[in-house]
Amino acid sequence: KVVGCLRSNVLTILNITGVFSGVVLALVLRASREEKWTQREIIYVGFVGDLFLRMLKCLILPLIISSMISAVGSLDLSVSGRIGTRAIVYYMTTTVSAVILGIILVLIIHPGEGSDKGIVRGGSIRHVTTADMLMDLIRNLFPPNLVQACTAQYKTVLTPPADYLESLANMNNSNGTDAGNMTAGKPKNLYDWKMSSDYEDATNILGLVVFSTVLGITLGRMGAKGKPLLNFFVSMSEAVMMITGWVVWLSPVGVMFLVASKMLEMESWEVMLGQLGMYFFTVMIGLFIHGFVVLQLIYFIVTRKLPFRYVGNLSEALATAFATSSSSATLPVALKCLEEKNLVDPRVTRFVMPIGATINMDGTALYEAVAAIFISQVRGIHLTMGNVVAVSITATAASIGAAGIPQAGIVTMVMVLDTLGLPAEDVSLIIAVDWFLDRFRTFTNVLGDSLGAGIVHHLSRQELDEMPAQPTGAKELDI
Ligand code: ASP
Repeated sequence: KVVGCLRSNVLTILNITGVFSGVVLALVLRASREEKWTQREIIYVGFVGDLFLRMLKCLILPLIISSMISAVGSLDLSVSGRIGTRAIVYYMTTTVSAVILGIILVLIIHPGEGSDKGIVRGGSIRHVTTADMLMDLIRNLFPPNLVQACTAQYKTVLTPPADYLESLANMNNSNGTDAGNMTAGKPKNLYDWKMSSDYEDATNILGLVVFSTVLGITLGRMGAKGKPLLNFFVSMSEAVMMITGWVVWLSPVGVMFLVASKMLEMESWEVMLGQLGMYFFTVMIGLFIHGFVVLQLIYFIVTRKLPFRYVGNLSEALATAFATSSSSATLPVALKCLEEKNLVDPRVTRFVMPIGATINMDGTALYEAVAAIFISQVRGIHLTMGNVVAVSITATAASIGAAGIPQAGIVTMVMVLDTLGLPAEDVSLIIAVDWFLDRFRTFTNVLGDSLGAGIVHHLSRQELDEMPAQPTGAKELDI
């Protein structure tokens, strides 16, 4: 029995071993010589991990498009509507509770007080506003060009006038002396700034999700006429899942080298002292309470089942989330764990998981709220109740807007800082520990999405049972 249990969980065990081996490998490599490891050597160490990441990333696009279309297309409009509504209610409830938890912790712990070791102070330029970023988020829901949406997403940029840039350059030349800082920090009339459209290198997953949902619904409603195209996507999603099944066997080694190379790159633990360390631990405590208490309690209350086994079955996905810092790259592995180990209905997982990986980021939401309030504490700004409410709303929006890629949260943070009147450059105060926190918040994000899929499956089981045989299985193809 023990051998059987070990055999069925071999990949899980290997993955957990992979994370620890990565840490050990980095420590051994660091200890093996006096001088620092060069960037080139770090790239060599991370090479295998990079290959694993590239393979996962390659699967994201075909997986999201085919699985969304086939799942939505195979459900009745009313059933998919109900599943979607349940998922959204779960996403909003958990995201808002994460934000509230973060705010309570940061107000109690008050990490922004005390010595400021590790803190780097930046200049102060006001970039895009909250309204600009929210409009970008909505614009991205409607991509004007699907091919472009596969590689880029829209963003508004504000370019400061030339003389302003000049004063910034002067500041850098004068090594950040007070005089330089004062000129650069002076708020400049916003009318002088040039506002333009830009595109950044990141798949516009939100836009593709919207289009795939609409196409899926349409194909489902077209009946016999829509069947050939629907079957094409059903078949494609099965094929991508099969390839995922092979790629996950690389995950223990991939995870190990990804973790090792990143740890080797790390400067020193010095930054963890003082305020930045307190901030780090505030976020970590919040992520821990949210992931291991709040979310699991919600799962237990709704399903009346203990969550331990369910969460244990997700360990491959959680290890991948930790190693890749990307909810999107983890998506194929998470789907595999949910469908094969936790036996969650593919019509639910393939519909709600791509959406969840993009908009449901509890860890990111919690971190955005803590970070913005921490920065205002460092700056000595007194927060009113109104400010705190504004932070909770924008932190929720910022987590929805963040893409499922490494450190996307720090980009959308600008929106939260803006509501407090803080400049975008203030993210420099927390940047030193961001890559590390990112791993833990991605872990929480993936955990939240996966527990959500289980909850939605539980609530929808009756409707799903009443529907005809599993249309997402390749066996049911009828062309
Ligand atoms: N890396 C996170 C994710 O992919 C997003 C973030 O918080 O930066 O879920």
